[in-house]
Amino acid sequence: MNAFPYKNGELYAEDVALSAIAADVGTPVYVYSVAVMTDAYRLFVDALSGQRAQVCYAMKANSNVAVIRTFAALGAGADVVSDGELARALMAGIPANRIVYSGVGKTREDMAAGIDAGILQFNVESLPELTALSEVAAAKNADVEIAIRINPDIDAATHEKIATGRKTDKFGINIEHAPQAFAQATALPGLTPVSVAVHIGSQLTDIAPFRTAFTHVAELTRQLRAGGIAISRLDLGGGLGIAYGDETVPTSAEYSAMVAETVGDLDCDLIFEPGRFLTGHAGILLTRIIFVKHSGERRFVIVDGAMNDLIRPALYGAVHAIQSVREPASDAALGEADIVGPVCESGDTFATACALTNIPAGEFLVIRDTGAYGAVMASGYNSRPLVPEVLVNGADYAVVRPRETLQQQLDRERFADWQD
Ligand SMILES: *Cc1c(COP(=O)(O)O)cnc(C)c1O
Repeated sequence: MNAFPYKNGELYAEDVALSAIAADVGTPVYVYSVAVMTDAYRLFVDALSGQRAQVCYAMKANSNVAVIRTFAALGAGADVVSDGELARALMAGIPANRIVYSGVGKTREDMAAGIDAGILQFNVESLPELTALSEVAAAKNADVEIAIRINPDIDAATHEKIATGRKTDKFGINIEHAPQAFAQATALPGLTPVSVAVHIGSQLTDIAPFRTAFTHVAELTRQLRAGGIAISRLDLGGGLGIAYGDETVPTSAEYSAMVAETVGDLDCDLIFEPGRFLTGHAGILLTRIIFVKHSGERRFVIVDGAMNDLIRPALYGAVHAIQSVREPASDAALGEADIVGPVCESGDTFATACALTNIPAGEFLVIRDTGAYGAVMASGYNSRPLVPEVLVNGADYAVVRPRETLQQQLDRERFADWQD
């Protein structure tokens, strides 16, 4: 679904003209479509309709409370990785018994907060974590259900920085050591191991690594059951990729068929943790052209958005489609342009040699498919205010994170008491 079409010669978000949002909220600004998020959620869930599946939205992709509430209203749970995400999930209306807690470095405070909230399960990633969680739970006279996240040693063929399933990655317990870890968990007070978890990476554009990973999970589950450990739930993680350009990606139907083939005969409740799939296409970064600078052969289009607002190109070499808000005439000549931000780093480049019409300063561009790992990774580098976020629903829109003010930025800091 494309909720960002041209209408009447300009780009819209659903039924709201982006020029109206720019005039009202200013730029840069992230704009999210409820319709696209809803559509993606239904696509994912409907494909799994024959299976006992619960989606636990991986909030780290986009943790704006209004975005989370959109998924809460559709019946989603949440996959959280910090105390802050847990608080947001609860605030946004996700029931505690639909929350799973992931992360390789949970502190005892994180564990206590999850136990106090009554979450569904902790996904444990190491033996020291197992011991710590047992101690925290036992001290509270609590009994917590856990998954052990296994590391299946699979190369998911995605970007180096978002591959998580190889044994050289920091995530999970090596699958060969998993039976031993489950045995230890069974013996520890306060813990009930009920689940095997796996997540091999993000932006997977091929179904094969999932198939291999889930096949390993199924084998391990049979082995554990034979040893008397009652596995009733599998957490199959997230990672399903989306198309940022014209690449082909697996459909949710293909993904679901593979799930049924690999783990369908185990009679388990299934948890899925999609993040990018649910929000990636739903967002755009709207930005204004400050200057157009010609330097030799190059045309630099300098925009008011920057790497601190959207770091994916700088961090992962990610390529996002870029469009002008004013619809180009069908016969408009295209020329190469580099779309760059104002930050003092050459990495502050959104696109290199991108085909763009001769578009002047003052006009607006959108950077597409930035609903996942966009605003959540924003920073205040160069003392730039945290970028605002707008949620669009039909003809309505709401500012769901206002632009940070200079005063708010300054209020976070102090002089040392010896400075006058
Ligand atoms: C990041 C992450 C996800 C979500 O990944 P996507 O690629 O956004 O679907 C799910 N589970 C875990 C454990 C993660 O770390």
